[in-house]
Amino acid sequence: MGIEESSLEGVVTLRGIIMVLRAKTIDLLQTKDLTSKQKINSDLNLGELESREKNLASFPRRIILELTNACNLRCVMCGRDEARFSKTVFDLSYLDRLTKVLEVTEEVTLFGWGEPTIHPKFKEILEYLRRYPTRKYFVTNGTRLKSIRDALFEYQVDIMAVSLDGARASTNDKIRIGSNFEQIVSDLSLIVKQKQKLGVSYPYINFVFTAMQSNLQEIPDLVRLACDLGLEEVKVVYLTVFSDKLLSESLWEQQEEVKRVFNESIQLAESLGVKIKLPYIQGEDIAGRNYHKDCFVGWRDFFLGSDGYVRPCQSSATKLFPYSKYDTFEEMWNSAEYQDFRSRVNDPETMPGECKRCYQSSHANWNRKDSFIQVGQQFAPDWANRPM
Ligand code: SF4
Repeated sequence: MGIEESSLEGVVTLRGIIMVLRAKTIDLLQTKDLTSKQKINSDLNLGELESREKNLASFPRRIILELTNACNLRCVMCGRDEARFSKTVFDLSYLDRLTKVLEVTEEVTLFGWGEPTIHPKFKEILEYLRRYPTRKYFVTNGTRLKSIRDALFEYQVDIMAVSLDGARASTNDKIRIGSNFEQIVSDLSLIVKQKQKLGVSYPYINFVFTAMQSNLQEIPDLVRLACDLGLEEVKVVYLTVFSDKLLSESLWEQQEEVKRVFNESIQLAESLGVKIKLPYIQGEDIAGRNYHKDCFVGWRDFFLGSDGYVRPCQSSATKLFPYSKYDTFEEMWNSAEYQDFRSRVNDPETMPGECKRCYQSSHANWNRKDSFIQVGQQFAPDWANRPM
């Protein structure tokens, strides 16, 4: 079987079918048609990104809302234990300033340092977003699937990513402390059955798997599990180590074994019809010797943290400004802070320090040790005190 690199950025095609996605992708996953207003905005945004405009006439294509930085699990690799995390929760009044942009942005992603489904108003937020044409996407640890199952269909959630770090209960539950593999699998099975019963194609569901030494070999079995359950995709990201206790779990300098497992997983995914998204192999990242791949989050995304600060992305400690600083979305989006960030993020001389050691799964340069190991570095923001 030949694997052919396509001319599309970061996409590998197998027998002409796009099955394997290599991060990074400028385009967002399309699960339904865009409205004409969304399409006009997205085309304008892509053009402004290409010409590296600082002052944008377009709105972002994606709004990312971190509903909380709190979590009901204690995964061994989570940076929440290695930094000072005062719990913060997203204030629903933040939504008021987003009404105009919600008409044209492609997607709202509920994602950040914490578990979005434990936000006390999680379902109300889905209900609110349902009034807009935007895709609704969230990333979850899967612990509350049973209680949110009906809301997935009532509010038409378009994409749901479920974190699982093993294809066996013994592996997953040891890494994701407090997680229950069997329960997650059983709940997902019921969700897929409900999808089939209702005859709908949403939510598109993928597994997100953090690859490390103790679970790398289970990726092919995770692809099998996704197929058995009827899920659409498996996405693999590398572990970034924040604590020296986990250095032995890093896949830094394990590229030969990683490549072998990835190739096996690709072949299996192709034969089973499951999409697979994999990071670049160390040494093969298109970022070459740069600090990171071309970063486009300052054009495509608007990230609002649960502490009320706007940050460039979830993986950056940089706070651009407090959300309360500006009265309108337009003022924020073309603020001096945003324009300054856009002018610096891809400049090796002036980019923020965190961007020089970017570990964001799509933009990081996986040829660099800093992407795999961040011990002793500031990798998360100093949280403003907004107790839950
Ligand atoms: S940390 Fe990475 S993804 Fe985030 S803004 Fe910097 S370069 Fe971009």
